[in-house]
Amino acid sequence: MPKKSINDIDVANQTVIMRVDFNVPLENGQITDDRRIEMALPSIKSVIDRGGKLILISHLGRPKGQVKAEFSLQPIATRLAELTGTPVAFAADTVGEEAKKQVQELQPGGILVLENLRFHPGEKAGDTDFAASLASMADIYCNNAFGTCHRKDASMVALPQAMGDQPKVVGSLVETEIKFLKEVIETPERPFVAVLGGAKVSDKITVIENLLNICDQILIGGAMAFTFVMARGGKVGQSLVEKDKLDLARSLMDQGQGKLLLPVDAHCGDGFSEDCQKQICSVDEIPENMLGLDIGPETASRFGDVLSTAKTVLWNGPMGVFEMPPFDRGTRAVAEAIASSQATSIIGGGDSAAAITQMGFEDRVTHVSTGGGASLAMLEGQSFAAFEILDDA
Ligand code: ADP
Ligand code: MG
Repeated sequence: MPKKSINDIDVANQTVIMRVDFNVPLENGQITDDRRIEMALPSIKSVIDRGGKLILISHLGRPKGQVKAEFSLQPIATRLAELTGTPVAFAADTVGEEAKKQVQELQPGGILVLENLRFHPGEKAGDTDFAASLASMADIYCNNAFGTCHRKDASMVALPQAMGDQPKVVGSLVETEIKFLKEVIETPERPFVAVLGGAKVSDKITVIENLLNICDQILIGGAMAFTFVMARGGKVGQSLVEKDKLDLARSLMDQGQGKLLLPVDAHCGDGFSEDCQKQICSVDEIPENMLGLDIGPETASRFGDVLSTAKTVLWNGPMGVFEMPPFDRGTRAVAEAIASSQATSIIGGGDSAAAITQMGFEDRVTHVSTGGGASLAMLEGQSFAAFEILDDA
């Protein structure tokens, strides 16, 4: 069921507490990538442009319940002021005297960023007192933090709970993520093809199981393909294999009844390095001294054919060690096939999102998810307490 959006409610003169994901990468106190702040902007602007008073709350890093200067949200508040072109107030605590005073001083159209939620042990503990203190500051709760939606941190679950009958809504970032990672995937236009790759089968077992129920075809690449190949009796040389997952791989192939498509060839090397000896091998006949570092050209071409007929595509996990050319070719070929298709295309997973952006295809796919762990959890078919608790549209 879709949730009520921040855009659907009147916020004028109301105090909105918005949980955002400002967990941006920092180096020596400098923000190296501010996309997460940018992504939150539409809902931030929606509130301040309509005369709401906005309190922004987020975590940053893993300070483990302690105040640690290197994880302060102060630089983020500064960047936000630059991005919005409006002054942004900052409180050096979360529910203490300073925060309370600054909330009192908030004017319509004003923004206040509270200090890192995880400086308070109550955040990770899901503490109800901490949540109640946050709730007491605001009239409206808005969840605009997809990256933490699979968690039960106080600001995600106990806080909206503590809001009682007051409005609890989604921000547009979360709304978009849920639309693609849940609604489109649950009622896809067919054929629905998933491409799964990455390092480990074990990371993605539940995703595969869930997708077997809803996809028409699942293309498997990346290192995880070799566990399947070995499970059916192929020789994979030194390729990365999870030997304790062979039975499981067999049972997934049985369950899949032909839905799982494995590589036919692999781009192999005689070591995990750029300057290794390289060779294209049949995926079942990888020499003893070599390992598969990417899908081969024949596989890329077959995957491309399947993708060209798809109406919905979901991609999670690179096809090879794309960080180490030339083993980026398979990933690039798949990215290109997805970008060229007419399908609704959804990219989930941190490394897959990085690959598609790096390779310049970001604007040619329908949706690139911002949440690594959260998108995986959603693809597993999990329902999120942090989302369920919000008001229905
Ligand atoms: P995502 O973050 O998109 O979910 P994963 O984290 O599961 O993706 O996997 C990405 C990693 O898998 C990359 O670092 C990539 O180098 C690695 N990988 C892909 N194919 C192979 C392979 N054949 N051998 C070793 N590592 C691989
Ligand atoms: Mg990853």
